[in-house]
Amino acid sequence: MHVVPLIDIKSLHLDELRRIAQPSYRGGQIADWLYQKRVTSFAEMTNLPHALRTKLADNLCFGKIEVVRVLGSKDTTRKFLFRLSDNNLIESVLIPASPALYGSPSDRRTICVSTQVGCAYGCKFCASGLDGWKRNLRADEIVNQIMAVEEESGERIDNIVFMGMGEPLANYDNLLRAIQIINAPWGIGIGARHITISTSGLVPQIRKLADQALQIRLAVSLHSASDEIRSRIMPVNRKYNLGALLDACRYFTSRKKQRITFEYILIAQVNDSDEQARQLAKHARALEAKVNLIPYNRVEGLDWTQPSIDRQKKFLAILRSADVRAALRREKGDDIAAACGQLRLQTERGLAAPALESTG
Ligand code: SAH
Ligand code: SF4
Repeated sequence: MHVVPLIDIKSLHLDELRRIAQPSYRGGQIADWLYQKRVTSFAEMTNLPHALRTKLADNLCFGKIEVVRVLGSKDTTRKFLFRLSDNNLIESVLIPASPALYGSPSDRRTICVSTQVGCAYGCKFCASGLDGWKRNLRADEIVNQIMAVEEESGERIDNIVFMGMGEPLANYDNLLRAIQIINAPWGIGIGARHITISTSGLVPQIRKLADQALQIRLAVSLHSASDEIRSRIMPVNRKYNLGALLDACRYFTSRKKQRITFEYILIAQVNDSDEQARQLAKHARALEAKVNLIPYNRVEGLDWTQPSIDRQKKFLAILRSADVRAALRREKGDDIAAACGQLRLQTERGLAAPALESTG
C-alpha cells in the first residue's frame, strides 16, 4: 500500500521516466504523450501496455492547474489566475509578440511565470510579498503554467521570464528541475537563451547558477544603486549588499559569457535622482549590463508613486549619455509582468477586479 504522496509525472526527467517504465524506450513514449500530444491522463497513453499504465497510475499523479480567471484579450497582455490542487492561487502573464523583451527578438511570445506562492523577501513596493510566503511551487506546477497558458490561449510560447510571484532562486532545485523539462528536446523545447531568471539578489544562488551548464539569462532586480536606499526598499540587501551582489554578477558574466540585465523600478523621490542614475550607470558599465527601467506600478495599499514622465526620461538620458544600453518600459504589457502578484492579492482580499476582465 502507498503511504508516500504521489509524485507528479511532470516533475520527472526523461531518465527518471525511463527508469520507471521499463524497457527504457517507453520513457520516451511517455514524454511524447506528455509534452507533444499533451494528454491529461494515463489512460490516454494508448501505445503503452495496460500493466504499465496501471503501474504509472499507482505510483504517479497527473496534476492540473485550474484556470480561475483570465484578464485581457488576444493581442494584448493577458493575465491568468490559477488555482493549485491545495487551493492556493498563482498567476502567469502572457505578453504578446511586439515589444522586445530581455534580449529576445521582438516576434516572441513571452510568458511571465511564478515560482512560489507569495514571497518571503518583502520588498516594500511589491504585491507578491505583502501577504508573506506560503510555499515553493513544485517543478510540475512551474511547467504546468506554461502548458496551461498555451492551451488556454492557443498560442505557442517561445520566451520565458521567471518574474512572476516569488523569488525563483529561493526555490532553486524545483526551478532548475522545471527549467530542464522546459528546455529539453523531449520536453517543451524552449532554448535556454530564451529563458530568463529574475532575482532580487540571492548571492550564493547566483554563483551556483553561474556554474550550471545551461545558458540561461539572468536579470537582477537592482532598484537602487546605493546600499542605503536599497536596504530601505529591499530587505535582502541587508544580507547581501551591493558589493557582494555585483561581485556575484561579475562572476555570472564571466562564466556565462553573456550580459545580464538590471531591472530598475523608478519610484518617485526614492530612487529616481540624477545621482542614483549616475551610480547605476557606473555599475552597469562595469558589467556591461543592460538596464530596464520600469515605472513603478501602483499596488493597492502602498503609497509609492511613479516619477513624472520628464523625470523618467531624464534618468534614462543620464544612463544613455554614459553609454549604457538602457530602455524605459512604457508600452502596455511591459509593466504588467512587474505587476505579477497583484491579481492574486486582489482576489484573495476580495478587492474589485480590474476593469479589463474578460470571460476568457
Ligand atoms: N523575486 C524576483 C522575481 C519576481 S519580481 C525579483 O525580485 O526579481 C519581478 C520584477 O517585478 C522585479 O524586478 C520586481 O522588483 C518587480 N516589481 C515588483 N513590484 C513591482 C511594482 N509594483 N511595479 C513595478 N515593478 C515591480
Ligand atoms: Fe519577492 Fe521579487 Fe517581490 Fe521582492 S520584488 S517581494 S523578491 S517577488
